[in-house]
Amino acid sequence: MRAPSDRARRLWRDTITIDMHNDLPTRALDDGYDADVRHAAGVAERTEGHTDLPRLVESGLTAVFLAAWVDASYARGAPGGSFARALRGVEWIRDFAARHPAHLLLATSAHDVRRAKREGRVAILVGVEGGHAIEDSLDHLRELHRLGARYLTLTWNNGNGWAGSSIGVDGTRTGGLTAFGREVVGELNRLGMLVDVSHVSDTTFDDVLAASAAPVVATHSCARALADHPRNLRDDQLRAVARTGGVVNVNFYARFLDVRHAAAWDAVDRDIGAARLAISGAADPDAARAEFEAARRRLLATIPHTPLDVLVDHIEHVARVAGIDHVGIGSDFDGINGLPRGLDDVAALPRLAEALLARGLADADVAAILGGNMLRVMERVLDGAAASR
Ligand SMILES: [Zn+2]
Repeated sequence: MRAPSDRARRLWRDTITIDMHNDLPTRALDDGYDADVRHAAGVAERTEGHTDLPRLVESGLTAVFLAAWVDASYARGAPGGSFARALRGVEWIRDFAARHPAHLLLATSAHDVRRAKREGRVAILVGVEGGHAIEDSLDHLRELHRLGARYLTLTWNNGNGWAGSSIGVDGTRTGGLTAFGREVVGELNRLGMLVDVSHVSDTTFDDVLAASAAPVVATHSCARALADHPRNLRDDQLRAVARTGGVVNVNFYARFLDVRHAAAWDAVDRDIGAARLAISGAADPDAARAEFEAARRRLLATIPHTPLDVLVDHIEHVARVAGIDHVGIGSDFDGINGLPRGLDDVAALPRLAEALLARGLADADVAAILGGNMLRVMERVLDGAAASR
């Protein structure tokens, strides 16, 4: 892939760019991934990743929300575990920013994001993913806000006691918001935290839109009209987010962008499973493992790469349906195992500016997509709440 044009580089450099969802904290906490040193682009090993300090700095990205994600397994564990895990994620994010004051700035407002841009630092913001993190306690939510969290993704793939998920893993809730769920939305509004509808069920989506007094965002969701997946948003949902003044930030995950890619992954997954079964009980386990690894690599190589244009198709679709003022980006870097070709890591982000310009979009529209729209929402929700308290 060729390097971005001078025009795209200039635009990227001069624009406040905001990525609404990145899973670096989970790689660091669960995979022993060292976020302070450079890695190769990829996700297969701990030597590979989409994000680290050197590439974050190199990217020129203005701001990124790092996710304190809480896995569904914590909700099945002992009481206190989900909230403790969320705190650990938040703490990791704060430490990451604090370790690198020359390059990073822990940010909680649009004002901070502007300051980071002026100072040539990357603004690090905190999002909490998975409503089970608060364990049905508004005090826990307030504590997360106090520590810097500025959005709550109401569910992950598991629903919780008060909100339903689009996937509903482990037989968890897929329905709407309960009365307490509406209280959570009200408290998010009051605190000046963004309400994130990525991952929620369609019923919960409707309930949130009715309950929220502030603009609503989807931090990492694609368009269902282009790729039929329950994690993606329908056209009427894109329009509904726009009516609140909010933004739908498009996810880079090839599985959500491209049904062909998703089908190929599922087929390869089945074949890898069969290959793994075939080597169980082999006379020479080392040889069998090597053979399996070779087969696995061969199978993974057959999965077609999703072109970068497919991601741009989703962004353009959201812009067309919801309006150019209501679309943004939420990469899901380091939380996914398939990216559009050429967008292999955070350092490759300027190529997205190039790809958007190549569609004939005006510079101002590209700037709005890459961060201006979210900055507007953050000014209203994060900074506005601070001013009125
Ligand atoms: Zn997610």
